[in-house]
Amino acid sequence: MSQKFTSELLRWYHDHPRPLPWKADNDPYKTWVSEIIMQQTRVAQGTPYYLRFIEAFPTIDDLANAPESKVLKLWEGLGYYSRARNMHFTAKQIQETYDSVFPDAYDDILKLKGIGPYTAAAIASFSFGLSYPVVDGNVLRVISRYFGIEKSIDDIQTKKEITKICEDLIRDVDPAVFNQAIMNFGATQCVPKSPNCVKCYLSKECKAYKANSVSIIPVRTKKVKQRSRYFQYYVIVDGDHMYLRQRRNKDIWKGLYEFPMIEKDDEWHLGIQKDIATFFEFDGINILSLEGHKVFKQKLTHQTIFAKFIIVEIIKPVILEKEEIIRIKQDKIDKYSFPKTILNYIKGKSQTTLF
Ligand code: SF4
Repeated sequence: MSQKFTSELLRWYHDHPRPLPWKADNDPYKTWVSEIIMQQTRVAQGTPYYLRFIEAFPTIDDLANAPESKVLKLWEGLGYYSRARNMHFTAKQIQETYDSVFPDAYDDILKLKGIGPYTAAAIASFSFGLSYPVVDGNVLRVISRYFGIEKSIDDIQTKKEITKICEDLIRDVDPAVFNQAIMNFGATQCVPKSPNCVKCYLSKECKAYKANSVSIIPVRTKKVKQRSRYFQYYVIVDGDHMYLRQRRNKDIWKGLYEFPMIEKDDEWHLGIQKDIATFFEFDGINILSLEGHKVFKQKLTHQTIFAKFIIVEIIKPVILEKEEIIRIKQDKIDKYSFPKTILNYIKGKSQTTLF
C-alpha cells in the first residue's frame, strides 16, 4: 500500500507541474522565505509578497542589515508579524554564528528562531537533499485519508504516527520531489472540502474513499476558543496632519503603527472627548467635526476584531507628551506599516482625499 501511494503520488506530480518562483534554485534562504510566507497565505496571494521581499533583500546579509521598519513594511497585510520579526532576528543570527551561510544540518536549522520541524524539513529536503518529511495540515489530511486514520490529528500521538509513515514513505525516493509532490497534492487535489476523488490517482487504494468517510477524515477535536474585541480608532486630523501611535507592547502587532485607539467592551462611539484626552494625556482638545464609519471585521486564529474608525477634526495641533505618538503629514501615510484591519480601511479610501 505504501509503495503504491508513493508511485501514484509521483505519477500525479509528474502530470501536474506547478512552477513556483522559489523553486528555480535550491537557495536555502529563498526556501526559508517562501515557506514562512506560504504558511500564512495561499500561493496566489503570497507570491507577490515573496517576489517583493527577495527583491528588497536578495541575501541573508541584506535582510540582517535592514531596519525592522522596512521588513515590517514589506510584510504589511500578511499578518503574523512575529514571523517577520523572527526572520529578521534569525538572519542576524545566521550572519553572526554561521558567517552568513545557511546551516546545512537539520538539527542546526531547527535551532534557529522561528523555524519549527515543518520549515526545517522543507529547507533540509529542498535545499540540501536531506530525507526529512514535511508534515503540515495538508500532509496530515492526505495521509490520514489514504491510510484511513480516524484518530484526531490534533493529538500529538497521531501526528507522531503520521510523521513515522511519512519517514518510511520518503526513505527510498528523492526527498525534495516527494515533499513537493505531497504538498501540492494536498493543496490542489486532496483538498479539505469535496475533493474530486473520482478523478484521483490514489482513489483505488484510498481507505477513506473506499469507506465513504472522506468528509469525516481528518478527525479534529481541538476547538479554537474565539473572543471578540472591539477597537475604536480615532483618525485625528488637524489641517493636513494626522496622528499615529507605534505599538510597543508585546503582541502580534508590535512595531506597527495605528491610529489612536481605545478598546471598548462592546459599545461604540461613547465618550470620544474623554477617550482622546486620555490617549494624549492632554485636555485642551477642541473637536471641530466628527464622522463615524462602518465597522471592519477581521477574523484571526483566536480572536475576531471589530474595528470602527471615527474621523475627528480638531482645531489646533496637540502637544505630544508620549514618545510613541507621532504627528505626520497625511500624504506620508504610505511610509508606515499597519495591521491589516487599518490597512483595509486606508485602502478603502481614495489616496487623494484620504481623510
Ligand atoms: S481519493 Fe479522495 S480522499 Fe483519497 S487521496 Fe484522493 S482526493 Fe484524497
